[in-house]
Formats: sequence, C-alpha cells, structure tokens
Amino acid sequence: MILKELEKNGRKNLFNLVDKTSLVNITKYAIYGTHFNIEGTLDFIKISGIKVENVDLLVKDLDGNEQNIKAEFNYSDDGLSFSTFGEINEGIDLENLSENSYYILLKVSYSNSDIKYFSLVNSTEYNNITYYTITKNEFNNKIDIGFEKYNDISYMSLEVKGGEKLPENVYDIALDAGHGGRDKGATSGDYKEAEIVLDYCLKLKTELENMGLKVFLSRDGTEDSKEDTTLTMYDENGRINLLNGSYAKLILSIHINENKYSKSNGGVEVYAPNDCDLGFAKEIANNIVEKANTSFSQNTAYKEEEGVYVKNFRNADIVATESRAKRNGYEPYHVTTSTPYIYVIRETGGISTNAFVDGRNKSFGTNKYYNSNVGIETYQIELGYMAIENDLQNILNNPQGYIDGIIESIKNHYKIGL
Ligand SMILES: [Zn+2]
Repeated sequence: MILKELEKNGRKNLFNLVDKTSLVNITKYAIYGTHFNIEGTLDFIKISGIKVENVDLLVKDLDGNEQNIKAEFNYSDDGLSFSTFGEINEGIDLENLSENSYYILLKVSYSNSDIKYFSLVNSTEYNNITYYTITKNEFNNKIDIGFEKYNDISYMSLEVKGGEKLPENVYDIALDAGHGGRDKGATSGDYKEAEIVLDYCLKLKTELENMGLKVFLSRDGTEDSKEDTTLTMYDENGRINLLNGSYAKLILSIHINENKYSKSNGGVEVYAPNDCDLGFAKEIANNIVEKANTSFSQNTAYKEEEGVYVKNFRNADIVATESRAKRNGYEPYHVTTSTPYIYVIRETGGISTNAFVDGRNKSFGTNKYYNSNVGIETYQIELGYMAIENDLQNILNNPQGYIDGIIESIKNHYKIGL
C-alpha cells in the first residue's frame, strides 16, 4: 500500500538518495510507552581523513515533512553501530504522528559535509507491531510498524491511520494497587497499605475514565484474601501478566513506604525506570507535592532528583541473585547494575527494561512478555510513609490532593483535554 502511494506521489525519487553499497541491519527495535527506538549496525568502509559526525534516523512522510532522531554511535574499521535507546521513553513519539505514511532511513553525516542515506533491513526475531495511541475524543490512531521494500530498497515504515477504536484487549492506562490478597503491605495500627492504595486506584480510575481514558486495574479488591500475590504474580492471571496483557501506554503502581529513613520526615518518592528521561517522573512528584501539600522525601538512597528515584540492582543484589539461582539449581538471570530492581517497572518494559523472568526460577511462573519489544512505561509512586504520622494522616484525609497531582501530570504529559 505504501508502495502505491509512493509511486502515485512521485516519491520514488527520494529513494534515489539511498546509498546501495551498504545496508543497515536492525538488531533491536522496540516501543516503550509512547516512544519507538531502533538500534543496528552498518558495514562500511572507513575513508581515511573523513569522520562520521552525526547519525540520525530520518523519519519522512509522504508530504516530504521530516524529522531527525539523533542516534548515539560508534565506528571502527569494522563498521558503524548506532542506537537511539539512550533514553527509552524518548525517540520517535508515536503520539505525535499525524495520519500519513512514514518511512525511516539511516542518515549518516560526514566531516567533509557528505550525507548518505542507508536502507533498513530487519535482522531481529521480531515482526510487525501494531500500536494504538492514547484515546482522545473517543478515537485513536492505529500505527502499523513494519518493514517494506521499494524496488530493491528495504525500509522501515510507519503507517498512521486515524479514527480508529481501541480493540477490546487494549487499554490506555493501567493502575496497579500494590500488594493485595494475603499481602497487606505496610501497616500502621489497623491501617493497611494494600487497602489504602486500592482505594486510591479506584478513585483514580473513575477520574481517568471521566477524561475518556480506558483504564485497567491489576486488582480490584475481589482477589482471594488468602492468595499470596508475591508468589502468584507471574501466574497466568498474576499481576505481571495481567498488566502486560493490558497493552497500556502507562502503568502507575501505587504504594506507601514502610521503612522509615528518619523519624520525622516522610514525603513522596516516584521510582522511574533506568535509561529514561526523568521529566515525567519529576512532574508527577512535583504535582503531588503541590496539590497534596506534602513534601519530597529526604531519603537519599537511589535518589536522582527531588522526589525522583531510580533503583537498579547493586553488586550485592546481583551476587545474592546468583547464589539463589545456584542454590535452587537454575541458570541465573542476566542481571546488571543497569537492571531495574523494582519488578513491576522491570517486568512490564519487555526488552527495553531487561525484563528477565522467563521461567527458569521454578518457584514461580513466567512473565510471558519478558522478551516483548512492546513495553509499557511504568512508574512506582510511594505516596509517603505509613510509619510517619503526618504522612499517614495526609494520605488518609486528603486523597484528593494526591489524586489531583497524578491526574494533572497525566493530562499535561499526554496533552489530554488541552
Ligand atoms: Zn508497597
């Protein structure tokens, strides 16, 4: 279909730009949340005295509009490798593409002012992806991402079609009320984290639905009170597989902290994935502090910015993971210090966040989506500290403040109703 339109529009001339002496092998491509990224390699002959200055993904539509997405790159006598995965929630913004057909080429700029364009070949195990944008005014764009050929030239295409409806199994946003079943989370007297955060999620769901969004809940309080949700989270109907199966663009996992880092200070902590632009996490933390009249947590462990935290495995955690695997007789997972520690963040991002629960640990099930190249952008929000009276009272008596902060962040970030 793209091919016909290209011919009709006389765009084939654009493909005359393509340098046919070399091809880009795409070794990874993935959606994380609302953004799409690519990495790959290019065999090319290094010319003495001439350097590669820039590598970009050229995204061009049939009207000739183009955007360039900057890639990080390395090159040697063997070839060039590039990636736009430096920040997994940046790259090609799928929410911002208007209805059109787009094609992607690699653009290499040299120190002698030469620019060359190379075509893309899929060298991965992955096939086409269909993506639905976030619902606005009851409609969605449907985006088909795939590899096409024009004459002998391979390229990656994005076809954006407007006026679609979400399929039954696809949601805009998922909410994950922490803990549940037998696991009550942090407690203070009769107050239980699991119950409070469920109440928050139900309220958030109503408000998001009033904005026209389709919302998925990982649990709604009807789960068996005896269920060990920690053990069952990788079951067929466990939290992780349910969340992944929602195909949402965003997951917010709502919690209240347990351990106090200080006797007097509480405050908000928003946990973000690794390799991620922290702007959205910061916006959530800022808005909660402002609307709920609370404070940023003063906890310094894993802190990146005021109220924003990135918790990865530390060397000691990796050693512990490896010895657990050895003890229980399974091959250890591939875990590094850039692997997110918080499972709901890691296991819902697929290959973008190095999700790893693939069934080798026999004590629980499998994340069926661990190897997916479509991941959901996930943040864990710790509203405050159960053990700190000011925090607990504010969380119990002023839920609307926290909820307003979260809703405001979602509205601004996804430009809903603006
Ligand atoms: Zn918790």
